[in-house]
Amino acid sequence: MNSGVNVLSELPNRRGLMLFCPHRMEESISRISVQELWQRGIRGLILDLDNTLVPWQREELPPEVSGWLEEAKQAGLKLCILSNSVLGRRVARVAAELNAIHIRKARKPGRGGFMRALQALHTRPAQTAIIGDQMFTDILGGNRAGVYTIMVQPIHRREFIYTRFVSRPPERILLRFFRKRGHV
Ligand SMILES: [Mg+2]
Repeated sequence: MNSGVNVLSELPNRRGLMLFCPHRMEESISRISVQELWQRGIRGLILDLDNTLVPWQREELPPEVSGWLEEAKQAGLKLCILSNSVLGRRVARVAAELNAIHIRKARKPGRGGFMRALQALHTRPAQTAIIGDQMFTDILGGNRAGVYTIMVQPIHRREFIYTRFVSRPPERILLRFFRKRGHV
């Protein structure tokens, strides 16, 4: 693919409530157009693991996900898995299978993990996208770090009990609000 099309030097800073708003939403990672990301100037991808690439606490990549990641790599995008997971083996195994960089104990939405990911990818924030299924970790952290934020629906209903009962209800309220305002 051609390079240098529409490369953004910096994304406008998001503030206040907009820090929770993804730049866009997709049903799943495989619905995202790799070519469109490239044309936006995206060169590096920060990827959430649980319920974005694999079902929660599993490590088998669904074929459409591994196919999409293969296409992204072929296009020249670099991959970094950024996981809040404390247990590292599973993250490391998935990353090895994908030939991707991985960072665990990321403490999303803290900026530290995102900064480490940007350093490892050698990309500027505006050249980088985060793809994740959670507003209060992936999207908030990504917006704070100044990267392009893409929220996907969780792969599977099964998730951490805290996520299900504490994070999802306010997430739904905010999403409805952002939709009504035409932000997503
Ligand atoms: Mg997740």
